[in-house]
Amino acid sequence: MSDLERVQGEIPGPRSRALAAALAARETRGVTYVADDFPVFWRSGNGATVEDVDGNRYLDLTAAFGVALTGHGNTAVAEAIATQAARLAHGMGDVHPSDVKVALLERLARVAPVDDPRVFLCSGGSESVEFALKSAMLATGKPGVLAFDGAYHGLSYGTLEIGGIEKFRAPWREQLRGFGRFVTFPHATAASDAGGAGAALEEVERALRAAPEIGALVAEPIQGRAGVIVPPDGFLRGLRSLCDERGVLLVLDEIYTGFGRTGTFFACEREGVRPDMLCVGKALGGGFPISATLVTRAVADAWAPSQGEALHTSTYLGNPMGCAAALANLDHIERRGLVARARAAEPALAERLGRLRSIAGVRDIRGRGMLWGIEFRDGATANACVIRALQKGVIVLQSGPGGATVTLAPPLVIDDAQLARALDLLESAAAEVAA
Ligand code: PLP
Repeated sequence: MSDLERVQGEIPGPRSRALAAALAARETRGVTYVADDFPVFWRSGNGATVEDVDGNRYLDLTAAFGVALTGHGNTAVAEAIATQAARLAHGMGDVHPSDVKVALLERLARVAPVDDPRVFLCSGGSESVEFALKSAMLATGKPGVLAFDGAYHGLSYGTLEIGGIEKFRAPWREQLRGFGRFVTFPHATAASDAGGAGAALEEVERALRAAPEIGALVAEPIQGRAGVIVPPDGFLRGLRSLCDERGVLLVLDEIYTGFGRTGTFFACEREGVRPDMLCVGKALGGGFPISATLVTRAVADAWAPSQGEALHTSTYLGNPMGCAAALANLDHIERRGLVARARAAEPALAERLGRLRSIAGVRDIRGRGMLWGIEFRDGATANACVIRALQKGVIVLQSGPGGATVTLAPPLVIDDAQLARALDLLESAAAEVAA
């Protein structure tokens, strides 16, 4: 029998509350949200469940921001990290690299839908996007970048330039150079986009025509933080064509959608689109912070060969433990057929989640593979649903404008009984808060 949830007493329990008080006293402000009913402090994880410090067990429908795609406490990943840590925990990534770094470069090049790719390794998602931004500048000589309203590519200064969520940019506006331009990201299920991808693609074309200084276009194939916004069919193909026509580089940010999350290894493969640059992170390392940017040979050749000092690198580039973790994790995805699992789950999830439409206060249900959004009438209702679900033993996250969407991105190893139970509990939470 698979593990299901087991929650007792008040949530958060006494140990979580004590840790919340200690954390609030020491952590910089504005990081962890702490209230009477939130958060719980995790102590361990196993597959699709996590246990908190009070011994409560939750079904995790977030995969911890999409990272634990192959499950919490994945022993193959843990053993790979432990073995590598004992052998060599850190190398000199761009000076005297480790052997596993080369193995990972080769492995990523085999799986990514990029022509004859060259791979840059880094530690977090925003670093991966920043490498793409720097590469675009070198390869095109053009500083401008077209991005989308609602886009989330990280919170570093470079990625804020192309971030389409205003609140993250506002306090630093005067420090941003403003090389990003923004256009509308179309929404397959919104009534206003009933015409499909056409109107959005026309807007992209107008923007590219009006701004010849734009050398790259950056897009998430499905916008995650914006509330799981699935564009109409043909949108990515249309972007590829427009970029080709105008000599603009297409950068796809698959940091959230990559490695099977949406039912294909990369979300762009559903439309047969091959970007010039592909950003990956989150699930890559199975919990170890490692990310990568894969670029075509032509883009890579815009960088001069290193003369002994890399023009762009970082201390942890190609960290051996991260490379070993990623290799074990990629093996696990293939061995367990997790991409097919996410693909097969899609119709069942569409049907099961579709039933939530009858709940007053639920506005929309949308998703692909194992990435879904339940949009509520407002953020307060979605937040109440997240808290109620937590009390029932299910972990979910809010996303989208005002936090009105509840996002589901479970570990792909979640089994049918766990998924069914989690969705029953989530449905009852939604019904209770919307009543
Ligand atoms: N790009 C996308 C699509 C993301 O979802 C995220 C994180 O949520 C990022 C980039 C930034 O990644 P990180 O937080 O690792 O910098």
